[in-house]
Amino acid sequence: MRRIVIAGAGMAGLHTAESLRAEGFDGTITMIGDEPHRPYSRPPLSKEILTGKGTDKSLVLREDAEVEALDLDLRLGRRAERLRPRDRAVDLDDGSSIACDGVVVATGARARRPATGLAGVHVLRTIDDARAVRAAFGAAERVVVVGAGFIGAEVAAGARAAGLEVTLVEAAPTPLTRVIDPRVGGVLTELHRDNGVDVRLGTGVAGFEGAGRVERVRLADGSAIESSLVVAGLGVELNTGWLAGSGVRLSDGAGAVLCDPFCATSVPEVVAAGDLADWPHPRYGGRMRLEHWTNAGEQAAAAAHNLLAGEGARRPYTPVPYFWSDQYGMKIQLLGQAAPADTVEFVHGSAEERKFVAFLGRAGRLVGVLGLRSTPKVMRYRALLAEDTAWDDALAAAGVSLRP
Ligand code: FAD
Repeated sequence: MRRIVIAGAGMAGLHTAESLRAEGFDGTITMIGDEPHRPYSRPPLSKEILTGKGTDKSLVLREDAEVEALDLDLRLGRRAERLRPRDRAVDLDDGSSIACDGVVVATGARARRPATGLAGVHVLRTIDDARAVRAAFGAAERVVVVGAGFIGAEVAAGARAAGLEVTLVEAAPTPLTRVIDPRVGGVLTELHRDNGVDVRLGTGVAGFEGAGRVERVRLADGSAIESSLVVAGLGVELNTGWLAGSGVRLSDGAGAVLCDPFCATSVPEVVAAGDLADWPHPRYGGRMRLEHWTNAGEQAAAAAHNLLAGEGARRPYTPVPYFWSDQYGMKIQLLGQAAPADTVEFVHGSAEERKFVAFLGRAGRLVGVLGLRSTPKVMRYRALLAEDTAWDDALAAAGVSLRP
C-alpha cells in the first residue's frame, strides 16, 4: 500500500495513524477531519471544560511534535463526502479526490440535536459545543438537562459545580440505563439529588417552548420547567451518511458500519474503528458497538494492524470493553458489559456506602465489573473478564464465599 486515507480526525483516527506507523507503514497517510482542530480528547469536555477546572490543555491527546512525527497529510476543516471503492478514491467537500489503496472509516458520531429552532438549546460533543455551554453557564441561573446518560449526568454535575440550579429530566427510570445496571442506577439518582439536582425520572420531554429563545421545557406528564438554557444529552447519530452508495454495509436503524471480527467492512481494504463500528464479539455472543474512549483507541490499533496484515496474520478484535464517568468527584467504571437481566453481586462495599465493586453475571459467566469509587479494585478483575471466567470461579477469586 502506498497511500491510506483515514476519514475522521478523532480518537480512532489518531490511533489508527499511530498504529499504522508503529506497524511500519511508511507510505502517505492522509487524515481528513471536518473539525478545524487536531485530534483531541472529548471526555474532559464534560468533566473539566464545563466547570472551568480544566483548560484546552486538558484536551490534548498528543503534543504537536508527536503529531508532526507521524508525518501526516492532514486535511483539517475538510469533509470526506464520498467513498468510491471501484476507483479507490475518497472525494472531499472542496471538490478534490484522493486516490488511495486503503481506507479507515473513523468519522465517529455527532450529538443528536432536538429540532427546536430555538436559541439556548445546546448539545455537547465538540470543543466548540463545550465553550458555548460554558459561556451559557456563566450567563444563566438555571439549566434543564435533558437525558441522564453519561453526558447529561456529567453536564448536570458540571452545572452544579458552576453554581446553577439544575433540573435533570430522564425518560428512563434511572440514570445511565444504557451503560449500567438499573439496580445500581438508583445510587446515581441519589447522588444527583444529594448534590441539589431536581431529578425527574420516568418522564420524557414533550416539547421546547419559547419565542426565538427557549423559555420552558414541557414534559410528557404535562408539567413545565421554566428555563432559558437547555443542554440535551440525547445520544448520538453516527457519521456514516457519506458512505452511501459505496457498498460499505451499514446496520438498519443506527447506520453503524458492519464489520467482521477483523474490523473489515464489506468492501475490501476498507476498515472501520471507533464509535461507528459494529462487530461480532465472541465473548459476548453477539454484535457490539461501543461509544467508549478506550475502545476507539484499541479498535483503531486492531484495524490498522489488520489493514496491513496478510490473510493469515490478521487478529480478531476481542477487547474487554471499558467505560468510565466522573460525577461529583466520584468515578464510575464498567469493565465488560452490563444488561438489565444480569445477576448482580456486590463483591466489595455496597450501594449504601456509595463505594463498591459489583460483579455482573450472565449464563454462568462473569460478563461485567462495575465500580464506584473503587478504581484499583475494578482494574484488578480485568483478567477475569479477558479469560471468560465462570461465575462461581470469579466470585471465588474475589473472595466471596459461595452459598451452599
Ligand atoms: P469522534 O470522536 O466522533 O471523532 C470522529 C471525527 O470525525 C470527528 O472530529 C468528526 O467531526 C469527524 N467527521 C465526521 N464526519 C466526517 C467526514 N465526513 N469527514 C471528515 N471528518 C468527519 N468515553 C468514555 O469511555 N468515558 C468518558 O468519560 C467519556 N466522556 C465523554 C464526554 C463527552 C463530552 C463526549 C462527547 C464523549 C465522551 N466519551 C467518553 C466518548 C468518547 O469520547 C468517544 O467514544 C470517542 O471520542 C470516539 O472516538 P471516534 O474517533 O470514534 O469518534
